[in-house]
Amino acid sequence: MSIRKIIEYPEEVLAKVGKPVTKFDEELKNLCADMFKTMYDAEGVGLAAPQIGLNLRLFVMDCEGIKLVAANPEIVSTEGEQSGQEGCLSVGKIPAVVIRANKVRLKAQNERGEWFEQAVEALAARCFLHETDHCDGKLFIDHLPKLRREMVVKKFRKEKRLK
Ligand SMILES: [Zn+2]
Repeated sequence: MSIRKIIEYPEEVLAKVGKPVTKFDEELKNLCADMFKTMYDAEGVGLAAPQIGLNLRLFVMDCEGIKLVAANPEIVSTEGEQSGQEGCLSVGKIPAVVIRANKVRLKAQNERGEWFEQAVEALAARCFLHETDHCDGKLFIDHLPKLRREMVVKKFRKEKRLK
């Protein structure tokens, strides 16, 4: 297991629609183990493959007691609304308020390729949506009004320069 380098905005891979996961083999298991390790090391609650430079529809998460691997994730249904702070390991964890659905049902494959569905609420729902977005080449800042988006990007660039 190794910690991978986290790719940051505005790298191109973060804006690409991921390719489906087709092989559920030892290599995928090792990749998921690396992704969990990388996520914990960065103190995140979710990490998608594009964030380590791989153009794949795959994410891992460990949020509100829900720990899972989701390959080829699809949002089956959403309900309600929540407003809350969100951040991304690829955008320096700069927080911004994003409106999301409050209940989300996700369909995906686990690391053995078995399909499952899971319904979650609140923070875990936010995480499902955020990570599935990554697989579609979208970032949380894409949900922000233009000015707020620019503020987040500016702050991120400034903090990066200071590092
Ligand atoms: Zn993210």
